[in-house]
Amino acid sequence: MTQTLLLLPGDGIGPEVTAQAARVVERLNAVAGLDVTTATARFGGAAIDADGVPLTDATLAAAKAADAVLMGAVGGPQWAGQPYDRRPEAGLLALRAGMNVFANLRPARTFAALVDASSLKPEIVAGLDILFVRELTGGVYFGEPRGVTGTSDARRGVNTHVYTAAEIRRVARVAFDLAHGRSGRVCSADKANVMEAGLLWREEVQALRDAEYPHIALTHMLADNTAMQLVKNPRQFDVILTDNLFGDILSDEAAMLTGSLGMLPSAALGQAGTPGLYEPIHGSAPDIAGKGVANPCAAILSLAMALRYSLGRADLADRVEAAVAAALDTGARTADLGGTLRTTAMGDAVLAHL
Ligand code: NAD
Repeated sequence: MTQTLLLLPGDGIGPEVTAQAARVVERLNAVAGLDVTTATARFGGAAIDADGVPLTDATLAAAKAADAVLMGAVGGPQWAGQPYDRRPEAGLLALRAGMNVFANLRPARTFAALVDASSLKPEIVAGLDILFVRELTGGVYFGEPRGVTGTSDARRGVNTHVYTAAEIRRVARVAFDLAHGRSGRVCSADKANVMEAGLLWREEVQALRDAEYPHIALTHMLADNTAMQLVKNPRQFDVILTDNLFGDILSDEAAMLTGSLGMLPSAALGQAGTPGLYEPIHGSAPDIAGKGVANPCAAILSLAMALRYSLGRADLADRVEAAVAAALDTGARTADLGGTLRTTAMGDAVLAHL
């Protein structure tokens, strides 16, 4: 049955990098038995300019009706001064909320050819393959009450770090299920020593493991220690499960172990059977937008995640990831990786190995 992939190219380099991912879809349709049609919709700043809002109802409906959504990036200086609800980033939050994608998957994987691109020693990062599972729709970024009140010395800023047992369990389940297909190890990072919500997190994750996932080796680590261990001995980790705030910080830290922003994909998943949202972790890169020099690998690897987690084609996900690795092995490099290839030529290099 034909599946649909909604492309939301967005702003800046978003359209440039998603175009290369779309070429990969076309190639797989032609040579590998994939049966995916793509549709494209405006999103972010591009939608603000054309439609007055970053995410129209029609685009959200199309996203929910698709089998998977591949986004480029949103934002740019031209929209920075707008009221909050008219900013491109508000569209991204609304899209995540509307699609109810609560589990953010962020792989931090070192490609052999790029082992020297890390700021850490090659022997520390060689062979690194960590999968972060970050809770995406709860915690301190969404908790109520929030806001700034009062005047002068009594001005007070409040955010609320809150989780329910149900929110913790549904994201822990995603981590355990994914670990099952990997090494079977999950490390859950929290601050159970100083936060009640952290203690609840730890208790619920452990209880779910004991009740339903006895074959998973679960460890708990304080989030500050996790930050240290990630630079000291990152290969000890396989799946790291954590909340929205700690996941935001720790997954960015881990991402940098692997070198360039232009190589890093992500996924956001909801309940089984609902479409996932896939996007490179980089932004719209206004400094290089329109120059045709952006690295499309993060977008292409995001497509690979869509093949694996939403489109039921893990075999083709493996092929796409292998093609990116092979292109790097043969020396293909965009400027961010120290090379001279343009975006389209990097796309060509990946396609050559498919
Ligand atoms: P950025 O990720 O856009 O760029 C940071 C640096 O990395 C820049 O020098 C850029 O040129 C480089 N870079 C990023 N992706 C690259 C690629 N694929 N190839 C080569 N080089 C690449 O972050 P920023 O500059 O802080 O933000 C720019 C805009 O993007 C802002 O408006 C921000 O709000 C937005 N943003 C959006 C997302 C998203 O859409 N999910 C994420 C982060 C930032």
